[in-house]
Amino acid sequence: MSKRHLTILGATGSIGLSTLDVVRRHPDRFSVYALTAGSRASELAALCREFQPQVAVMASSAAAAELTDLLADMPGIRVLGGPEALCEVASAAESDTVMAAIVGAAGLSPTLAAVRAGKRVLLANKEALVMSGKLFMDAVADSGAELLPIDSEHNAIFQCMPADKVRDPLGAGITRILLTASGGPFRQHSAEALRDVTPAQACAHPNWSMGQKISVDSATLMNKGLELIEACWLFNTTPEKVEVHVHPESIIHSMVEYADGSVLAQLGSPDMRTPIANGLAWPDRIDAGVAPLDLFSIGRFHFERPDLERFPCLRLAAEAFETGGTAPAVLNAANEEAVAAFLAGNLCFSDIPVIIERTLSVTAVVPADSFATIFAKDAEARVRAREEISLVAV
Ligand code: NAD
Ligand code: MG
Repeated sequence: MSKRHLTILGATGSIGLSTLDVVRRHPDRFSVYALTAGSRASELAALCREFQPQVAVMASSAAAAELTDLLADMPGIRVLGGPEALCEVASAAESDTVMAAIVGAAGLSPTLAAVRAGKRVLLANKEALVMSGKLFMDAVADSGAELLPIDSEHNAIFQCMPADKVRDPLGAGITRILLTASGGPFRQHSAEALRDVTPAQACAHPNWSMGQKISVDSATLMNKGLELIEACWLFNTTPEKVEVHVHPESIIHSMVEYADGSVLAQLGSPDMRTPIANGLAWPDRIDAGVAPLDLFSIGRFHFERPDLERFPCLRLAAEAFETGGTAPAVLNAANEEAVAAFLAGNLCFSDIPVIIERTLSVTAVVPADSFATIFAKDAEARVRAREEISLVAV
């Protein structure tokens, strides 16, 4: 077993901290080369003191200056700032494994840098793949990067497939993927009641503790929409072969159906340290600090179909994937803008899908022929989404 040298993009977030918790348990297996964060320098400084990376990167030079001051007594840690520095540590020769855990489109460039450098890339940042789809997967194939899914559902699917057939489900005799969803905190809310829900209610997920943006995405079911697209790209399949099953207990993390009628499932406590440890140590299994599953105390599992009337985001995502080209990038950008407006108290919850649908209808779809096209569409869609938000803002 050779030691893995890690770059953790988004180290101060929910996934970043869970990753470091697994790393902390296995000093013989992992060392930290670089840690990065967006704006909270004091949080990254505390992590630097514990994990002693060679490099620490903040998303802006102002935040990097703050971190430099906080780490003045630790000259061994090189502090950098800005988007190029994020790409630099993601592709540095000193690291072989990159946890891609920045939230949203901001993660695309550094994740891509890691892919192009042929790293083992642990993909939590689903937005990067949703935005750039085929271009991203082509970059993986060209560089020989080892892409391992960290999203719990996709990690579950990965675990239920033969390792050499992840990109060839037909060849493996796979007939369907059953993608599970918790249904979020508003699963039983009426359409009326959904209008008045607050950011605090949306961020209080019944089963998972996560960052704010993905918590809101879980509440609108956009998270499942993004995951549907993510599954199609990762496992080389189409939306008709992926069926969303609402499973409120969040114990089965997804399932794979085979031609002979077998359905393989991966189960576990809803704790992201399990898929993170799976990716970090793959193909080995290591202690993730996760409590053993007690099925007696859970008792029963339930399943229901998603309600696309109350939760149109899942439908919008499936349609954007079918449309193809830059449509998924527009969907993602409009969603990020709408969620930010909702969290800021400027948009009501049930207007999130309205903004996304309008933005999609006023933004022309073009072929996704380059990453430059993707970034341009992302920027254009954000402008349009903000215009739409200003028209309905509360
Ligand atoms: P989070 O908000 O808790 O953390 C995000 C991290 O990204 C932080 O370290 C933040 O400093 C950094 N960041 C934010 N904006 C940045 C920018 N512009 N430039 C550089 N860094 C920036 O988010 P999270 O819940 O940890 O989610 C991270 C990613 O993982 C998301 O794509 C999410 O969809 C995915 N994911 C999360 C979970 C979960 O349980 N939290 C599960 C599955 C997938
Ligand atoms: Mg998930």
